[in-house]
Amino acid sequence: MLPMRAAKSLITRLPGPVREPVSRLGDLVSGTILPRCVERLYEEFDGAGMTRFRPRFEPSLTWIVGCLGGTMYVELPVFWFHPEWARVAKEIGRGDGRVFDEESLLALMRHEAGHAFNYAYRVYDEEPFRSLFVKGHRLERDIARKGFLESYPTGPAYGLFDAPHHPDFADYLERHGLCEIRGYAQLHPDEDFAETFATRLDPAEDITRVYAPEWSRGKLPKKLAYVSEVVARGAQDPPPLPGPDEETAIASWIAQHHPERHVIDVLAPELGLAV
Ligand SMILES: [Zn+2]
Repeated sequence: MLPMRAAKSLITRLPGPVREPVSRLGDLVSGTILPRCVERLYEEFDGAGMTRFRPRFEPSLTWIVGCLGGTMYVELPVFWFHPEWARVAKEIGRGDGRVFDEESLLALMRHEAGHAFNYAYRVYDEEPFRSLFVKGHRLERDIARKGFLESYPTGPAYGLFDAPHHPDFADYLERHGLCEIRGYAQLHPDEDFAETFATRLDPAEDITRVYAPEWSRGKLPKKLAYVSEVVARGAQDPPPLPGPDEETAIASWIAQHHPERHVIDVLAPELGLAV
């Protein structure tokens, strides 16, 4: 669980729109680019044959970003969708005041969807995945010992990661101005898969142009071919996944246990806010 104090100080400093009666938060988000991006992404899934793959994109009041490990819940801070919210978030030291445009948000969502797909269909448990994404990786032994998700580097090991570009890896987020960590796909095979998935999914991605000089030397074409093959599973309902654990975002926990209510509806009584 996130510390309640942090959420409280954040919410009480938000400007007018978020202090509206909480039942209206859904309406506020519906006026932003998020629903349009979800719609466009689902259309892309359908076009790629993933007609039953529907990860949930949760507007989060926390600052957690991304797909929660082992789930199909993707946290996206609401502060990205409204200039006034972004300004307040910056004032309290969260973020740089950036408001996402539709193309950037969609690019990020493609990457996060790659994680959700990997977890949903347990692609990471399969032999071709191991040979393409895990074999030879610096974390290979960790992954064998601790498990795929548990081997994820955290803390400073995560923040300080910086690797030279390598022809085995896509660099989708970085090329879209969404990641300042160089060689991000090399951080963990999970990131590698998500970057490859986003590259495969994006209809505007001109793969042979972007990667032409490196094309024949690396593993990337094989990885892309493998992703093209596994996306066919998205025509089936994924098996049920565990919900987010208590170490992750309160927003996601609520999304799982109270799917009918937005996070703020549940948080508000705790915070003494009018509902
Ligand atoms: Zn990622």
